[in-house]
Amino acid sequence: MAAALWRGLVNWLTPPKCVVCRADVTAGESLCLCCWQTLTFIDEPVCDVLGTPFEYDQGEGALSPAAIADPPPWDRARAAVAFTETARHLVHRLKYNDAQEAGHAMARMMLGPGRKLIAECDCIMPVPLHRRRLWQRRFNQAAVLAQHVARLSGKPMVHDCLLRQVATRSQVGLTAEERRRNVRRAFLVPPERLAAVAGRSVLLVDDVRTTGATVEACAATLKAAGAARVDVLSFALVLAPAQLHIEG
Ligand SMILES: [Zn+2]
Repeated sequence: MAAALWRGLVNWLTPPKCVVCRADVTAGESLCLCCWQTLTFIDEPVCDVLGTPFEYDQGEGALSPAAIADPPPWDRARAAVAFTETARHLVHRLKYNDAQEAGHAMARMMLGPGRKLIAECDCIMPVPLHRRRLWQRRFNQAAVLAQHVARLSGKPMVHDCLLRQVATRSQVGLTAEERRRNVRRAFLVPPERLAAVAGRSVLLVDDVRTTGATVEACAATLKAAGAARVDVLSFALVLAPAQLHIEG
């Protein structure tokens, strides 16, 4: 009774707002219906390795031609939504304001598409941010997402096993090959944490997967350190225009 009164008072003082457009929403909701409808959710059927949507169900573990032609160093990847305008807006909020509110809403959207990966992992790790960038931006947005996914799923989050060792230059405006070169050898597992990685199933969490060069480098580093499995769960995935129009 007291708790319900308190919640009513809090809602009256700070009515819940849509994390994208700040319109009023009902208690317990993060997004208004309009914003929710502009998100493109990615769910089964998807390529088991790249997490890209399939036009029709090809059975459990089916792979896309891209995953067969150029297999990444991770095992499976999934993303909650396609990187559309609303998704970009959410990522911006996560980076520059409302980190906790946006992070919670985004992590909730990641639980469905990532359910299998979350259930089968031993620990959750955010894609690390170099400490100079960490200082500029104050926090790592992937770590905020990882924290919320860990809290909502009950899986442990580990943040000291995978470190970024050189400040990589910004990825903006680089070709896929240049991005790959840029982040190669950028990550390391500190020697004193090797035992915590060896034989474990790791779930890497990131905000947006573009070419995948960053998570590729992270996954390769974790695999070299003896991780048994490395899966990748992102909030948004950048899809080619043709892939965007596929309706699950
Ligand atoms: Zn809205």
